[in-house]
Amino acid sequence: MPHSNGDLPVKQLYINGQWRSPIAEHYRATYDPSNGEGLAMIAQADIEDTRLAIQAARTAFDDGYWANMSPGERSRLLHQIADALEARQDEIAEAEMRDGGCTWRKAYLLDIPVGLIHFRHFAKLADFDPLESVPQITFPALSYNIVRREPIGVCGQIIPWNFPFLMAIWKISPALAAGNTIILKPATFTPLSAIKLVEIIHDTGLLPPGVLNLVTGPGQVVGPELCTNPMVDKIAFTGSTEVGREIMIQAASTIKKVTLELGGKSPNIILDDADMDLAVDGSLWATFMHNGQACESGTRLFVPASIYDEFVPRLIDRAGKLKIGLASDGASDLGPVISAGQLKSIEEYIKLGIEEGATPALLGTRPTDPELQDGNYITPTIFTDVDNSMRIAQEEIFGPVLCVIKYDSEDEAIQLANDTIYGLAAGVWSRDAERALSVAKRIRAGTIWINDYHLINAEAPFGGYKQSGIGRELGTWGLKEYLEVKHIHIPLNNERKGKFWYDIVVPQLED
Ligand code: NAP
Ligand code: MG
Repeated sequence: MPHSNGDLPVKQLYINGQWRSPIAEHYRATYDPSNGEGLAMIAQADIEDTRLAIQAARTAFDDGYWANMSPGERSRLLHQIADALEARQDEIAEAEMRDGGCTWRKAYLLDIPVGLIHFRHFAKLADFDPLESVPQITFPALSYNIVRREPIGVCGQIIPWNFPFLMAIWKISPALAAGNTIILKPATFTPLSAIKLVEIIHDTGLLPPGVLNLVTGPGQVVGPELCTNPMVDKIAFTGSTEVGREIMIQAASTIKKVTLELGGKSPNIILDDADMDLAVDGSLWATFMHNGQACESGTRLFVPASIYDEFVPRLIDRAGKLKIGLASDGASDLGPVISAGQLKSIEEYIKLGIEEGATPALLGTRPTDPELQDGNYITPTIFTDVDNSMRIAQEEIFGPVLCVIKYDSEDEAIQLANDTIYGLAAGVWSRDAERALSVAKRIRAGTIWINDYHLINAEAPFGGYKQSGIGRELGTWGLKEYLEVKHIHIPLNNERKGKFWYDIVVPQLED
């Protein structure tokens, strides 16, 4: 991949409200996967830099100004930040498109506007009532009980490269809404939209120093420090199941709260009464959106034997017509994959699928277009004759590769759909709402789309069953993951003086 780092802009760490260079003065270029062009030199934090950011977040939390601000005031500030982000959304979209190979349409029409809607959602939720009522089931009441939601504290937040802006929003907005302080760690491949996000927030001057810190650098260095440092109260992670497992182990040393959004190998089930036009296009969207580089992608497509011979050729025909091109080209359906390493890994999986006996009904290749020679491009692959036990059907490929699995009965489809270590998402396609719903209920996954895929409502929860994760993002569920529960107990009588309290409590319980 050709690149020269000569005149690239330099992007620093953001610690305690200031942009600062890393102690060791170490920088690394970030590249455009469409053409290999260097985009910026990114500060690489080491353990000492990470500790400074953690200390800043700790101090900002402990001084109480942000954590104890009234919910209404915090909500008002977050709405003002949302205004600033909306005003500069094109800058964010440009960073997203260039740094991560996100197509123009996906960046400008989907990820950035959706991210802003989700930020706004948490700006509204920030104005929540911290008091919760306790159901009274014992009469007369023995005590008066106050239940209060409070922020957890310092949150380390680690995000992946596939949806860099949306994932940054999903992390920082509920954490801020709840009154926590943050150290955000973007992925090495895609730091630019998170940096832009923090630049815009910094320019508003609305957040107290130390509330939001940004630490770019290698996950293997920054991550363990965030996960083991006793000053950090919670780790929120989105990324691979492998790293998620490592994070749980590390966070165990100080019993940190952990939320994890991990991998998936989601089933997409076509029922025999599906609207075929809708389901063919929907299945392509489910799999090939962002080249299959989405944790929830519907990469295992279950097609009933009764419509298989009509459905599959139509799917292959349509997939072959998807336009692959530069991310910046508004006509591109698919852009590049994130890196040369990812491209190689996808090609290895295609080879493996053939060795395992699947049929490459549409075989992905590197395009010959001269304009695409310096980027990481591969056209879609569709495997038929896939058995659900094959590695290509069980492992996350994270590329434009679809496995088609033929089934005879609905029960068989559901059993195979659930035969995976993952449980992030699924799709069901049917004209019969009741039937689709009954299938949806039997799938062990956190999000099930009926006659749709990928689209996410900020008010509904997102997260995984099984090895796809712990906890939920979005909605009130997402906010609660950033809140502790405090119970304050006040007795309703005052007969305690001069007694060892068994004498008053036991008769009271017997009443
Ligand atoms: P990854 O390798 O797990 O990396 C994710 C993040 O973790 C990056 O910021 C990475 O930093 C950091 N990291 C790496 N090693 C670490 C360690 N030992 N301790 C702490 N942090 C560490 O995942 P990825 O390849 O970027 O993303 C693809 C994966 O994310 C897929 O498996 C996908 O399914 C999953 N994903 C899940 C969701 C969801 O919502 N469930 C959403 C998006 C993606 P560096 O970049 O510096 O290595
Ligand atoms: Mg990049």
